[in-house]
Amino acid sequence: MEASSVEYHPRTMSEQPADLDASPALAGEDVVTMDKIVALCKRRGFIFPSSEIYGGVGSTYDFGHYGVLLKTNVKNEWWRAMLSERDDIVAIDSAILQHPRVWEASGHLAGFTDPLVDCRTCGQRFRADHLGDLQCGRKPSKHPGETEECSLTDARDFNLMFETTVGPVKESGSVAYLRPETAQGIFINFKNMLQFSRKQPPFGIAQVGKSFRNEITPGNFVFRTREFEQMEMEFFVPPDDAARWFEHWLVEREHWYVELGLRPDHLRLRAHDPDELSHYSSATSDVEYLFPIGWSELEGIANRGNFDLTQHAEFSGEKLEYFDQATGERYVPHVIEPAAGADRATLAFLVDAYDEEIVERQGAGEGELRTVLRLHPRLAPIKAAILPLVKKDGQPELARELHHLIRGRAGLGMVEYDDGGAIGKRYRRQDEIGTPFCLTIDHQSIEDSTITLRDRDSLAQERVPIEGIAQEIERRVNAPWSTPKLSAAATTGAAS
Ligand code: ATP
Repeated sequence: MEASSVEYHPRTMSEQPADLDASPALAGEDVVTMDKIVALCKRRGFIFPSSEIYGGVGSTYDFGHYGVLLKTNVKNEWWRAMLSERDDIVAIDSAILQHPRVWEASGHLAGFTDPLVDCRTCGQRFRADHLGDLQCGRKPSKHPGETEECSLTDARDFNLMFETTVGPVKESGSVAYLRPETAQGIFINFKNMLQFSRKQPPFGIAQVGKSFRNEITPGNFVFRTREFEQMEMEFFVPPDDAARWFEHWLVEREHWYVELGLRPDHLRLRAHDPDELSHYSSATSDVEYLFPIGWSELEGIANRGNFDLTQHAEFSGEKLEYFDQATGERYVPHVIEPAAGADRATLAFLVDAYDEEIVERQGAGEGELRTVLRLHPRLAPIKAAILPLVKKDGQPELARELHHLIRGRAGLGMVEYDDGGAIGKRYRRQDEIGTPFCLTIDHQSIEDSTITLRDRDSLAQERVPIEGIAQEIERRVNAPWSTPKLSAAATTGAAS
C-alpha cells in the first residue's frame, strides 16, 4: 500500500478527533527520570509493586498486561537473534532446583558473595562496595558512614543464594538452592545436548528463565531485584578460537540493542579491568546503558575458558568434552557467555522510549503535553489500536469486524479494540503504551471502506483502504526503525 499524504480532517465538530499536531517543543531534551518511568508503568499497568494489598514487599514487582507483552517481545527478540537468525544455537529450559553439588562445582557456594556492612545505629544493611550510591538510614541526603552517628561494622561476605529445603521433612541432605543464574543448567546438560542436538563446536545453548539472588541492596525499580529473568547463552568453541568468538559476540550483542532502537550514544561496551575479572575469565566486557541512574550494566559477555565444564567433570565424574572424529582430537571446549537480563533490558527499552513533547491541539491554538513511548514497533505491546471515532452510526460494528479480521494474525502481534471515551483520550492512552499505529474508523469509512492510519511518532494521519491493512501494518512493524529522539537530538545539536 502506498502511503498517501492525505491529512485526516473530520467533517463534523462532533466527530472531531481532537488529535495533536506534532510540533515538539522539548525535542532533543532527555526528559526521562526513573520516577516518571515508575509512575507510567503503574498508571498504564505495565509493572507495579507486588503484594500491594498487604503493603508490598520491598523491591518485588508484578508485571501487568502491557508489561507481560513488552517483556515477552524482548525475550522473543532475543530468541529470534539466537535461534531463528542462526543455525548454530539450540534451546534448553533447565530446572530452577538443581543438585546442590552443582553450586559447589560452579563455585557459587563458596564464592557467590557480596561484601555486607551493618549500621549499629539505624540497623540497616548495606553493600560495602556500593556505599557511595546508597542512602544513610537516618539521613537519606548522606551516604552510609557519612554522618557522625553512623556506626558501620567491618565488611563480611554474604552469600546471595536463596536456600530452601526439598521434600516434606527438613533434614540434612535436603538443602537446595534457587538458581542464581541460568548458565549452570546449560553446563550440566552439555553431554545431553551435544548428543541430541547433532551440533559440534562452535555451537551454543541458549536459555531464558528466572534466577534468584538475595541482593543486599536491591533497588532502582526492576534494575536490581531478588527475582528476575535472565537470557543467557553459552557458546562452546575450540580453545584456539575463543578470542575470535569473544569479539564476535561483543559486536552481535551490542548490535542487538541498537537494532531494537536503543540510542547508540546511550550504549557502550566497557571492558573489565584485570582486577574485576573472575579468576577463570580471560576477558569480560559489559554492555552498559546510560540509565537515569548513570551508566549501568545491561549484559555481561565473558570468555569463561574451560572452567565450568572442567569443574562439573571433576565433581560429577562425567567426561564433558568433545571428540572430533575428523581429526581424532579430544578437548574440553572453551565457552563464550553473553548473559543478559530480561527485566533490565525491558527497563532500558522503556527509559529510551519515554518522551514528552508540547504539541498543538488541532484548532485549539494552545500547547499540550504529550507523553509517548517511542518503542521499536517490534517491541511495542500493542501493534495497532482499532478505534471507532464515535459509538454509533455503524462505526463500532465496522471496527469490531476489522478487529476480528486482523487479530491473531501471525507476524502482526497484538491488536487492540477500544471504543471507550473521547478519541483524543484514546490516542493519549495508546501513545503512553507505545502503540505505533492507530486505525480510526469514521463516518467516511462506512461510505468508502477507508480508515485513518495515525503514526505514533510523527502524528501523521493518512487515509488508507481497509483492504490490505493487516499486511500494511505488518510491513510497517517489521521495517527498520530508529528512534525520532535521535533526529530530534541532532536537530537541537545543530541549532545550538
Ligand atoms: P550486577 O553487577 O549488576 O550485580 P552481575 O554482573 O552480577 O550484575 P551477571 O551475573 O553477569 O550480573 O548476570 C547477567 C545479567 O543478569 C546482568 O547483566 C543483568 O542484566 C541481569 N541481572 C543480574 N542480577 C540482577 C538482578 N538482581 N536484578 C535484575 N537483573 C539482574
